[in-house]
Amino acid sequence: MELSRRGFLKVTGVGATGLALSQLGIDLGPLQAYAASMKIEGAKEVISICPFCSCGCNVLVHVKDGKIVNVEGDPDFPISEGGLCAKGASLMSLHTSPERLTKPLYRAPGSDKWEEKDWDWMMERIARRIKDQRDKDFKVKNAAGQMVNRVESIFHLGSSQVTNEEAAVLHQMVRALGMVHFDHQARICHSPSVPALAECFGRGAMTNHYNDIGNANAILIMGSNAAEHHPMSFKWCLEAKRKGAVVMHVDPKFSRTSARSNFHVPIRSGTDIAFMGGMVKYILENKKYFADYVVDYTNASFLVGEKYSFKDGMFAGFDAEKGKYDKSAWAFEKDEKGMVKRDTTLKHPRCVINVMKDHYDRYTLDRVSSVTGVSKEDLLKVYEIFTATGAPDKAGTILYALGWTQHSVGVQNIRLSGLIQQLLGNIGIAGGGINAMRGEPNVQGTTDHALLYGYLPGYHSTPTADFQNLSDYLKAYTPTTADPMSVNWWGNRPKYVVSLLKSWYGDNATKDNDYGFNYVPKMDPGVDYSHMYIFDRMYKDEIKGGLCFGHNPCQSVPNSNKVRKAWDKLDWLVMGDVFHNETTDNWRRPGVDPKTVKTEVFLLPSAYRAEKDGTISNSGRWQMWHYKAVEPLGNSRDMGTMFVEMMNRVRGLYAKEGGAYPDPIIKADYPEKFEAESITKRINGFFTQDTEIKGKLYKKGQLVPGFPLLMDDGSTTSMNWLYTGCFTEDGGNLSKRRDLTQTPMQAKIGLFPGFAWAWPMNRRILYNRASVDKNGVPFNPDKVVIEWKDGKWIGDIADGAYPPMSMEGGKYPFIMTTEGHSQLFGPGRADGPFPEHYEPAETPLTVNPFSGQMHNPVMKIIKSDMDQLAKNGDPRFPIVLTTYSLVEHWCSGSETRNGPALLEAEPQQYVEMSHELAKEKGIKNGEVVIIESLRGKTEAVAMVTVRIRPFNIMSKTTHLIGMPYCFGWTKPKCGDTTNRVTVSIGDPNTSIPEYKACLVNVYKADKVTEL
Ligand code: SF4
Repeated sequence: MELSRRGFLKVTGVGATGLALSQLGIDLGPLQAYAASMKIEGAKEVISICPFCSCGCNVLVHVKDGKIVNVEGDPDFPISEGGLCAKGASLMSLHTSPERLTKPLYRAPGSDKWEEKDWDWMMERIARRIKDQRDKDFKVKNAAGQMVNRVESIFHLGSSQVTNEEAAVLHQMVRALGMVHFDHQARICHSPSVPALAECFGRGAMTNHYNDIGNANAILIMGSNAAEHHPMSFKWCLEAKRKGAVVMHVDPKFSRTSARSNFHVPIRSGTDIAFMGGMVKYILENKKYFADYVVDYTNASFLVGEKYSFKDGMFAGFDAEKGKYDKSAWAFEKDEKGMVKRDTTLKHPRCVINVMKDHYDRYTLDRVSSVTGVSKEDLLKVYEIFTATGAPDKAGTILYALGWTQHSVGVQNIRLSGLIQQLLGNIGIAGGGINAMRGEPNVQGTTDHALLYGYLPGYHSTPTADFQNLSDYLKAYTPTTADPMSVNWWGNRPKYVVSLLKSWYGDNATKDNDYGFNYVPKMDPGVDYSHMYIFDRMYKDEIKGGLCFGHNPCQSVPNSNKVRKAWDKLDWLVMGDVFHNETTDNWRRPGVDPKTVKTEVFLLPSAYRAEKDGTISNSGRWQMWHYKAVEPLGNSRDMGTMFVEMMNRVRGLYAKEGGAYPDPIIKADYPEKFEAESITKRINGFFTQDTEIKGKLYKKGQLVPGFPLLMDDGSTTSMNWLYTGCFTEDGGNLSKRRDLTQTPMQAKIGLFPGFAWAWPMNRRILYNRASVDKNGVPFNPDKVVIEWKDGKWIGDIADGAYPPMSMEGGKYPFIMTTEGHSQLFGPGRADGPFPEHYEPAETPLTVNPFSGQMHNPVMKIIKSDMDQLAKNGDPRFPIVLTTYSLVEHWCSGSETRNGPALLEAEPQQYVEMSHELAKEKGIKNGEVVIIESLRGKTEAVAMVTVRIRPFNIMSKTTHLIGMPYCFGWTKPKCGDTTNRVTVSIGDPNTSIPEYKACLVNVYKADKVTEL
């Protein structure tokens, strides 16, 4: 075993850091090391995790006399190797900030002040509020007379700040109470990643992991400013560059990522599909694709059914009355046995690859250039460099973030990157894949645990009223295939759903009562219960109260003038957070008389990261344990404790008083006390009876060793099948592992299989059986992920333990898709089987040169008196606004704006604009300006810069401006949120709002009188 720094401490039994840092191999100069060792001498050292981006940097927290005295990067953490960005480096000041919420605070209806209350008083009243509202509004049946068992007038929003364990008990509580208005930050940051990547490959997660970026030969960063927003991911881009890779940054503005890339290509926000569609055309026309991979592993050879067509921007099957597509028009052609028909010669005109070629034929260099504003030379430069990775021994990877997701075509932006990577054979290999760089610290984990209305934990659709019993539901959502070589892993769904229900309802979930299926609230089919709709219904007085934890929607949700008014209409509100923010204090925002706001507010002080233990999952699916270093500050508590107490208080009231449909609450197998590690075990799952599998006996109460052993007969539990295998009888809590040992083969690509644990089954690179040929021989002998040797796979955990395709019992490599192939043609999304360029909902153009269809025909449009949209090419609002984050602040900034150093570095709201636009508008650098849209106005300091240039779009100069989205009115006292001007329009698949492109105008502040 390789002795890591942590391992050394363990072996030598050194619990306190009495050793000089230099002795432990930290790369500090002698003087710095001496100073640091003085500060931390005698301190206890505890491993925690940065609570900001999804790199999940491990940190060492030094504690003396019960207080945090130092926080620094963990040199054993393979991704950061001890580094921290500005935010991570500020952790100590944030944990010890005098601005922290440390006492429960109560704001009475109409009051202009907070009052301190004790926990008991708060919890008792909160439980009463929840129960009374639920009893008043509970619906057993919907308008169609179907059983639904739900309450619509209460919501839950947030939080990706919670641990996996907190998320698991939260989800269980929310469903037991019957809530359907249930959503969290993933909706507004990365919700398109799941349906896009799942449609391509079968799972909705980042395919590779952060260290693996260093194995790439070409890196395309698009829709991301990785150097500033996921700094430790960029470390591995630079590592690849050092080894000869070309790093390309395609983004509307020049940033630090551009500065350290090989080159930057500016692009008009909202035109990524045009840019990448041109690349698909280039690949197909110039035969740059990896032919064997495409034929054997993708659905390129599948025959598309005759009903399919694409005309003038519209796919077949559009129902104008319903405003949606009938997707049956996109089905594949099948033979009499139900097998999809294929032509592996790729000659049939209805082969996916030929249909695709026809589709992208319109994406000429001229047309793409005129729409995106990218010169033809730059287009060709990117296309040539990236498509050179279509060779078997080359790898190209793509990094994206909110620059792709936050569009009315967010899902299809990501889908198109999946098409490119399939054509080039870049999936499953080292240095390849698609890096969905998630936003919040545990947004991967909280998405897995589904703090989202439409999923149950583990990516099972929430039942709608169409399913009145479990078997109908499972039948509808369990795919089948006629192809014996397809694994079709989702065919196991019944085992995971039944195990989930068993974990939620224990002995009260029996075969006779469908394992408690009807305790789970049912949605109405076709109804959207996500963020924008929650606020719209709140605005229309249909929602009365709710819970909001670790979330700042009055700052971070688009069209915030409407959101804030909607928030005013609530009767009661429970919030948990670390600091005050624009949402906790909405009732006293500028321009509002608190007397007019009726909301009763309960504000619960939350423990911060180093004050609690549990796991988070970073974007690379690494489930990592963090330890409690100190007690929660003041009277704050971890959110898991809050959820469990809240639920148990409500449960107590139902047990005493009865009320509306108490069964889901009373009969829940819910913990009496929140204890993180016991929940990790519940997430993993247990056997509920003595069970013999393949001659091995598993006793009742034993942990299930992996999800292949979960059952659909009630003999197992698991709160999330993806995590089954994370806690074993033999190995214990695998998320705590710190072993850096690797075989030479693993070390060559930096796999680190002994560090923490990764779902599924500790697999580090998804779809890795596509990194070998049909005989199990790696395509790239220099960067082997897995290899078939002596009758078994070595290297990473193979994605399906089956033999290679050519051998007996061999299976296709994409085990999570129904037909075993990755999907170039994806028949399951709301807006088409191929990505198509449509203009953003607000566009400076009056014509879409790709078709007669200007906008995504099925995008979600919210309608109210506060939801105006500018018309195409509206002369009043000629400028495109895009939004972004900063390295110093995180998301809404509600935490980082409390860090003195962070605030000093980035102290105020600003707007970046080109010299040309500034001149046109008579604006000078540093002047205060107003940015205005049809939704409202906001104020910012002008930053006149060469980082943003005017675009030549369809022979016309088009200006773009950019604003950070991390500021708000509470602090610092200059500037408010950019979302006062953004638009409530959503992608049709996930309803993520279009933050990244809307129309505005800008002028000097002295020309306006009020905001
Ligand atoms: S914000 Fe991200 S990159 Fe920065 S220290 Fe935290 S986890 Fe690491």
